[in-house]
Amino acid sequence: AKYAGRNRFNYFTKDMQKAAQARMHLANDLRIAVTAGQFRVHYQPIVEMCSGRTYKAEALIRWQHPERGMVSPMDFIPLAEETGLIVLIGEWVFRQAVQQVVQWRSKFHPSFQISVNKSPVQIRHAESVSWPEYLEQQHVSGDGITVEITEGLLLDAEVEINKKLLRFRDAGIQVAIDDFGTGYSSLSYLKEFDIDYLKIDQSFVRNLGPETNDLALCEAIIVMAHKLGFKVIAEGVETSAQHDLLAAAGCDYGQGYLYSRPLPPDEFEQWLAGKYD
Ligand code: C2E
Ligand code: CA
Ligand code: CA
Ligand code: CA
Repeated sequence: AKYAGRNRFNYFTKDMQKAAQARMHLANDLRIAVTAGQFRVHYQPIVEMCSGRTYKAEALIRWQHPERGMVSPMDFIPLAEETGLIVLIGEWVFRQAVQQVVQWRSKFHPSFQISVNKSPVQIRHAESVSWPEYLEQQHVSGDGITVEITEGLLLDAEVEINKKLLRFRDAGIQVAIDDFGTGYSSLSYLKEFDIDYLKIDQSFVRNLGPETNDLALCEAIIVMAHKLGFKVIAEGVETSAQHDLLAAAGCDYGQGYLYSRPLPPDEFEQWLAGKYD
């Protein structure tokens, strides 16, 4: 019995070793990917519910791995955060988004906006050039960009984070709270921070139906957000039934497969072109 136990332990450590090696391998690939140009940015429309119009999109990174094919951000963003590579990758995404919004403002609508995710690691680490500085260098108005941050970030290091957010706000950059309602949330930060949008997490939208607790929660979030002066974006809208319930509850924007999946820029333009006719 003792022997078998030791054997199991051996297998266990071998598996752990393999997992650690795989991670190191992926981290190495990730480092190469930045310079080898293997990243793409896809854009998902954020649709105004009352009018059906689209003046906003979220930038979502995609990794075209030479052997593995498309790797989901869910599989490499955490690793990029642990290794600090997220700072470099995040800067690249941001610059792509800035270029893109300039194009789409002249091509589609002068107030077009692109949302860019910024992870806590990125907010804490200094970048080579800050977002406000970069926008100024490029002569791009800050209101072309919205930064999406998660709630958890607002709970720790309040003073520092608030200073950074204020610098964003001074530059005209709008602020969205991503995945609202998940994780360790506290409502107190909603009155402390200058926020423009709350994004209701997909987990509340998934099982929406008449007379469900999830609908009650969405309705309450929308009322609260509006009283505080924020707009609401519902994430993960997949069915017209979900859209209708949210629209009836006064939700401002919807994002999800019902409208469109995240698309490469050229396909996004085709999708959008039809909408302005
Ligand atoms: P997120 O910011 O919450 O982004 C929304 C995710 O939901 C995206 O997954 C999007 O493709 C997916 N989604 C959109 N509509 C639907 C729907 O109707 N149903 C379902 N089931 N899913 C939907 P994606 O692109 O795989 O990104 C996953 C996460 O990776 C993002 O979650 C975000 O946290 C992170 N991420 C993506 N791009 C970046 C980036 O450039 N920088 C940073 N820091 N994080 C990023
Ligand atoms: Ca997001
Ligand atoms: Ca989200
Ligand atoms: Ca998320």
